[in-house]
Amino acid sequence: MYPDTQLFLAGQLRPGGDKATAPVYNPATGEQIGRFAVATTGDLDEAVAAAERAFPAWRAMGPLKRSAILRKAADLVRERAAAMAPVMTMEQGKPLAESEREVTNSGDVLEWFAEEGRRAYGRLIPARDPNVMQLVTREPIGIVAAFSPWNFPVSQAARKIAAALAAGCPIILKGPEDTPASCALFVQCLADAGVPAGILSLVYGDPATISDHLIAHPSVRKVSFTGSTAVGKLLAAKAGAQMKRCTMELGGHAPAIVCDDADLEGAVKTLAMAKFRNAGQICIAPTRFLVQDKVYDTVLGRFEQAAKAVKVGDGLAAGTTMGPLAHGRRIEAMEGFLADAAQKGGEIRLGGKRHGNTGHFFEPTIIEGLGSDARLMNEEPFGPIALFSRFSEIEEAVAEANRLSYGLAAYAFTRSSAKAHKLSQSIESGMVSINHHGMSLPEVPHGGIKDSGYGSEGGAEALEGYMTFKYVTQMMV
Ligand code: NAD
Repeated sequence: MYPDTQLFLAGQLRPGGDKATAPVYNPATGEQIGRFAVATTGDLDEAVAAAERAFPAWRAMGPLKRSAILRKAADLVRERAAAMAPVMTMEQGKPLAESEREVTNSGDVLEWFAEEGRRAYGRLIPARDPNVMQLVTREPIGIVAAFSPWNFPVSQAARKIAAALAAGCPIILKGPEDTPASCALFVQCLADAGVPAGILSLVYGDPATISDHLIAHPSVRKVSFTGSTAVGKLLAAKAGAQMKRCTMELGGHAPAIVCDDADLEGAVKTLAMAKFRNAGQICIAPTRFLVQDKVYDTVLGRFEQAAKAVKVGDGLAAGTTMGPLAHGRRIEAMEGFLADAAQKGGEIRLGGKRHGNTGHFFEPTIIEGLGSDARLMNEEPFGPIALFSRFSEIEEAVAEANRLSYGLAAYAFTRSSAKAHKLSQSIESGMVSINHHGMSLPEVPHGGIKDSGYGSEGGAEALEGYMTFKYVTQMMV
């Protein structure tokens, strides 16, 4: 039932040049469920050569025809969502309903960029001389090397592929080795919808070998990466040395500020959903829960109830609301964080350890009273851990929110529009969501500042990242 994954190069599914493969495991059982093909550097060169051959026609095709192909792909993705979801759950762990929603949402991403590609307008700039016409036009940046992670195997790939193709660029995607098959099924939808051979290639293998080779390749003009800040800095440095443009969607450590005038029930419901979805393995998951004194006990008590109601289990089982972590590396990371938190005097209010003996399950965890010297208060947990602390004045909460070098997502809850305005203005973050969870839609920007990266994975800003502008001035003679 779980398919092996091949490379997709020059319009063909095929093994890697030296036929090497690597295993894929189900994080709920620890069992090997399949294998994926490993690309050689020769395969990567072939992907680039195919992209070079296909680029001129794709560029010349124009946005309307490209849009029709992308919309057809969106339809295929939605049609196949029910079949793709179990594959994603088997390799990644998330509950089946979350997998299916991710796939259908990725259809929405394709559709939105299909339309936005048609609106990549230029400008006409009034000239000083009446005989001169001054234009700014947009052009596709060229061949894209993209790297997408395992936490959202389809939607993270979708954002990069949709924006690149809509802009008129070829893209070579290194998919997530931990979760290769659902990403490959998504790419198949695009191939079946008529994306020409060479315009979209999918490779897997050793991440460092692939990124070193593709980023250094003279024909690759743009790098897009989603993953940890450490790896992002490495890749951005390599791209910078070659003067190549990047979109970097990196780690976060989201503050969630709950003021004493907030709708507490709504705040807890929103935050519990956002914390435990995908077992907390989301760059925009709320992490530092900063609650105003007067309502601290109430909010913590209600959040604890919500965390206790989370049903941990195999994502394929009915009723599961939180699956395992995606691989053993995350369990090791959680255990390291918890050992440090205990040493630094944190009070483990709920959870704090592995759940069960098979697979990579971890309990929904709440920790109180950690100081800023604790690792968890500085490093992205990327797991189901909520850190609670209290504040009395809003300025304190803002200072804590801005203490870290991360700046991806932030949440705030208050009924006062003046406080909401103040918070939205003073929090250093690429995205601020007030009184609800309203991020990650195809039509809105999605990106960070500071160590969380630059560029956007959503909205018109995302398309910009795959285009260059050209200024043309013409004297009428
Ligand atoms: P990791 O840092 O080894 O890898 C993170 C991602 O980067 C993976 O997808 C991996 O394939 C890729 N990667 C690693 N080295 C690379 C290289 N040299 N070239 C190209 N790609 C490379 O860590 P991990 O154990 O896989 O994930 C844990 C951390 O990654 C988390 O703590 C989290 O901060 C981060 N992460 C973030 C996101 C996100 O949505 N921003 C997604 C997944 C992982």
